[in-house]
Amino acid sequence: MKREEAWTWLRKTDSMALQETLRDLDRSFRNFFDRRARYPRFKSAHAAVHSYRTRNQSNSIRWEGNQLRLPRIGCVTVRPRHIVEGRILNATVMQTMTGHFYVSLCMKREIEPLPAKKEKRHLGLILDPQGCFIGSTGFCIPLPESLSEREQRIARLKRDLARGQKGSANYEKRRARIVRQEERIWNTEQDFLQKLTTRLTREYSLIVVETRQGSSRGDSAGLRTTGWQGFLALLRYKAEENGCEILAVPIRKTPGQTCRKCGSPRSGVPSDHRGRWICPVCHAENDGIAAARTLLRRGLGLQAYKRLRCQNSQPNRKPRSGIRWK
Ligand SMILES: [Zn+2]
Repeated sequence: MKREEAWTWLRKTDSMALQETLRDLDRSFRNFFDRRARYPRFKSAHAAVHSYRTRNQSNSIRWEGNQLRLPRIGCVTVRPRHIVEGRILNATVMQTMTGHFYVSLCMKREIEPLPAKKEKRHLGLILDPQGCFIGSTGFCIPLPESLSEREQRIARLKRDLARGQKGSANYEKRRARIVRQEERIWNTEQDFLQKLTTRLTREYSLIVVETRQGSSRGDSAGLRTTGWQGFLALLRYKAEENGCEILAVPIRKTPGQTCRKCGSPRSGVPSDHRGRWICPVCHAENDGIAAARTLLRRGLGLQAYKRLRCQNSQPNRKPRSGIRWK
């Protein structure tokens, strides 16, 4: 296609980027025919984020000082969040609606998992509906306050947007403002979660969390950008690096959503700094830390049960003495 007159613009990009796009197209059609996804759609010029991915071949993507060399584009000055040692597999360049450019690098490196911690420190961790991480050892860490403020601001902006005329200059301006807020929320939340998961996995040898159904963004209180599954993924890979074990336990009800005594819904009652909240109906005190301890107990019980079952089903058992059949 590159040779034809009508497609000369294809020559402007690097060839690896085109190949990656073809690969994406192939995958999306395969997903469609396997009934996993909808029919593929074109990328839109009006999308909030523009992006392309390119593969590293014979060192075409590399660091030169604090600049990153990208094929066809050349050297760009970047402000790295953190430098990861390793081999670059591919790079995705994104431009958000605020005009900021981001590049994410997919790196490969060998890591040596640390040996399991000598000292056994167990933790049950829950996230209550008010957006507070509560640990069985007695801590209560709320999500950054600025997140809920920003969320309110976004809600207001979205109401304004609904009133405006679609496609007008003001409409686009408002839309850009929303995206800017979303971007800040993303940055704040990621920063918080990265630091939290690093700290917890370094400190504890076993962390029990709950499995939650669904992976959509709205299902876990506060976790806007990643959702619960994303948080677990973060926790798991950090645990692997820091010699910590993660145990996800299925539980019937998410703790902290209903009163433990009368079962009435919590309906937005905030918890204090120790994770406690008073039921608005029966005035019973609900304890988040106690809920986290219950989760930990259940996790340890499940672990012990699984170990026992593994031992009992070992194939090479000694033959029983007594009668021998020949
Ligand atoms: Zn109650």
